[in-house]
Amino acid sequence: MIIIDGSEGEGGGQVVRTACALSLVTGEPFRIANVRGGRDRPGLMRQHVTAIEAACAIGTATCEGLSVGSSEIAFRPGRIVPGEYQFAVGTAGSTALVLQTVLMPLLRADGPSRLVLEGGTHNPQAPPFEFLARAFLPILNHMGPKVCLRLVRHGFYPRGGGRIEVDITPAPLEPIACRERGAPAGCSARVLLAGLPLSIGERMMTAARKGLVDWPAPAFAIDELPADLGPGIVLLLERAFDHVTEVMSGFGRMGERAEAVAGTAARRIAGYAASGAFAGPYLADQLLLPMALAGGGSFTTVTPSKHSRTAASIIERFLGRRWSFTEDGEAGHRAELV
Ligand code: AMP
Repeated sequence: MIIIDGSEGEGGGQVVRTACALSLVTGEPFRIANVRGGRDRPGLMRQHVTAIEAACAIGTATCEGLSVGSSEIAFRPGRIVPGEYQFAVGTAGSTALVLQTVLMPLLRADGPSRLVLEGGTHNPQAPPFEFLARAFLPILNHMGPKVCLRLVRHGFYPRGGGRIEVDITPAPLEPIACRERGAPAGCSARVLLAGLPLSIGERMMTAARKGLVDWPAPAFAIDELPADLGPGIVLLLERAFDHVTEVMSGFGRMGERAEAVAGTAARRIAGYAASGAFAGPYLADQLLLPMALAGGGSFTTVTPSKHSRTAASIIERFLGRRWSFTEDGEAGHRAELV
């Protein structure tokens, strides 16, 4: 059994999700003490419980200590069973993070799966739907499998109520090298707004335009969604290249000015565009697991985040493979499975 201190490194939910996925794939049980010990409110939250329940369901696994607030869990994997599953995070907890827990194991299953995931689709501190659909999945699909994602209903924090559907056709993951991102292939800036005054969206958009002066005017748009989906507002900034699309987001929050949210997101996408790297910080930490399971892979990235280093250390515990991060001239850093 692998023993993990959940407060090490990033000390968040990613440790739990990565361990569940790797345990199901390798058949190795694990125990985590100090679950989410690096967070202000440590222990399992509702969304982590749902993610582990999902891992138990698809992998005939058991988990001791599985309840909201729990700080110690012991997970024993079983056989991965493909099929149709529906998981609901009873709060606005992120559907993307539930997917992050079960996707790799289901790619190893001996048949296709269909998932219906209910909860948040646009949450702070989690990949928004568009990031999964346009940044992460195209690269994963390039490695062999076919994963299709549909947004059926938006779910904003704190209300939730969103729904995504995922069709998963497994195939062996093939190593890929993602060094060059290719030529620029477009950009788009969209504000999704529900149940809030349009003027907030306009302020967000104006601030985004100020930060992205080289983006053409038609790239900017506001999508007003039905008011009953709200309140919610998010700015989605997409920068496409021939070989990769990055999606950076800024979530509106009570007490934070729309201009500040947009300014930060615009600085981040502009920084990524100027960097020459293939993957931004979030895409980087999410590529580590599939590439490690492929048995090889590399990509250029911005300075590796704590999330990346933590994911790499959990991967090493289960697979005995190490990710090396080295400086790589203009492209920033190079991540390589060694
Ligand atoms: P944790 O904070 O440990 O629960 O992990 C959060 C996960 O969500 C990490 O895999 C991050 O890469 C991912 N994530 C957080 N914010 C974003 C974002 N704005 N866009 C894409 N991925 C994100």
